[in-house]
Amino acid sequence: MTLPHTLLEGGLLVDGSGQPGWQGDLLMAGDRIVCLGERLRAHPPQGIDLAAAEVVDCRGKVVAPGFIDAHTHDDAAVLRMPEYLPKLSQGITTVVTGNCGISLAPYRVAQAKSPLTLLGADSFRYADMAAYRDAVVAARPSLNVAPLIGHTTLRFAAMEDLDRPASEQEQARMAALLDGCMAEGAFGLSSGLFYEEAYAAPADEVTALARVVARHGGVYATHLRSEMATILEAMVEAGDCAFEAGVPLVISHHKCAGPANWGRTEETLPLVDRLGERQPIAMDVYPYVAGSTVLREDLVDGVIDVLITWSEPHPEAGGRMLADIAAEWGVDQQSAARRLKPGGACYFQMHEDDVERVMAHPRTMIGSDGLPHDRHPHPRLWGAFPRVLARYWRGRGLFTLEQAIHKMTGLTARNFRIPDRGMLRAGHHADVVVFDAERIRDLATYAQPEQLSEGIEAVYVNGQCTYREGGAALTARAGRLLSRKDFSA
Ligand SMILES: [Zn+2]
Repeated sequence: MTLPHTLLEGGLLVDGSGQPGWQGDLLMAGDRIVCLGERLRAHPPQGIDLAAAEVVDCRGKVVAPGFIDAHTHDDAAVLRMPEYLPKLSQGITTVVTGNCGISLAPYRVAQAKSPLTLLGADSFRYADMAAYRDAVVAARPSLNVAPLIGHTTLRFAAMEDLDRPASEQEQARMAALLDGCMAEGAFGLSSGLFYEEAYAAPADEVTALARVVARHGGVYATHLRSEMATILEAMVEAGDCAFEAGVPLVISHHKCAGPANWGRTEETLPLVDRLGERQPIAMDVYPYVAGSTVLREDLVDGVIDVLITWSEPHPEAGGRMLADIAAEWGVDQQSAARRLKPGGACYFQMHEDDVERVMAHPRTMIGSDGLPHDRHPHPRLWGAFPRVLARYWRGRGLFTLEQAIHKMTGLTARNFRIPDRGMLRAGHHADVVVFDAERIRDLATYAQPEQLSEGIEAVYVNGQCTYREGGAALTARAGRLLSRKDFSA
């Protein structure tokens, strides 16, 4: 059987390695990249007849590996809305799920509690990785899923009370669950020690689990215990944990939060460099000065702006500023926050200089951290990747185009050990994005967060054209649940 060939002709090939792009053609067949070359139609690779190939004119466009979203909470979103336009329309072809200690598997419960509710309270139905894999296969999402296993999820699955360290028995239960998921191909462990439900876990509890991950060749990603006053201590804890266990470390959504900590990336980034001399270490970042998570009074200081993204008792508050609601109610912001709970918010807690410093660091990957279940989501869900290119490459010149793409593709695949993706290479899976470098920009804003970006012209997932700008909806749903074990060579 001859596989259908697709030839992306005459684009600027930016291959994801960070090396300079060059003008040429990319040939795909079935779900793989066949080769890159110059004038392939005139000089086809030996034994390949391109007479019947679909030829796409890419002159004046960039052809790059499909973007890999290093930091997502998309575990349930890819099942509930398998087209997943918010991500696909940014050029994203793979999402790393299960971040911040919160993964859908392995845990089954009718109504999940905070912070697991970030994934939707009623979505926890998968007792192991095999059950989750079956669900992804049945849902046929439009993009690929690379799952991490969450420490907080393991705690919920193995412990009654989460306000203390795990007992020996509970530790063994968590290790066994994690071992099973890793054997099924999960990419590693994540933690969210910042959250109450994991905060009581001592470093040893996490290190023991990271050792399980080390045996399988996975990674450890962490939402640090603190991103505020004690961030350096939290980074050292994470570094020691990963070093002792023998796993690569990813510091999630790196930031220095709160006005008192603005400017402190001048301390944290040199610490990353120092740790990097001893162990493999990376970071991810989203290109905004506001964070977003569940509504918590302790993050409301009366100084920074807070935008409500959802509220169970007051759904009408979604999209409004907390200060305005508090003024209307005649109470202070913390009291208003208490009344709005359970809910979610955007916290304008970062300084632009810190965001740029982190983003420009050579160890930093791009991750959206979008929250797909929020009623009025943070704009990063729809706009993060085009925004990096529009605002920080084209606008601010923070890095070269090739470096920006590297942070969205090759670097991410390497750090998470995702096989055969993230680069334009012969034999790699054909995850490819075609975009207009002059036109690309995010339109999602805090006021109007659900907006398609401009300039992403076509997205191919496993060789199938899955998105076209301004075109009719495509029905290709060729995404897969990826496995760490799928190296083809
Ligand atoms: Zn987080």
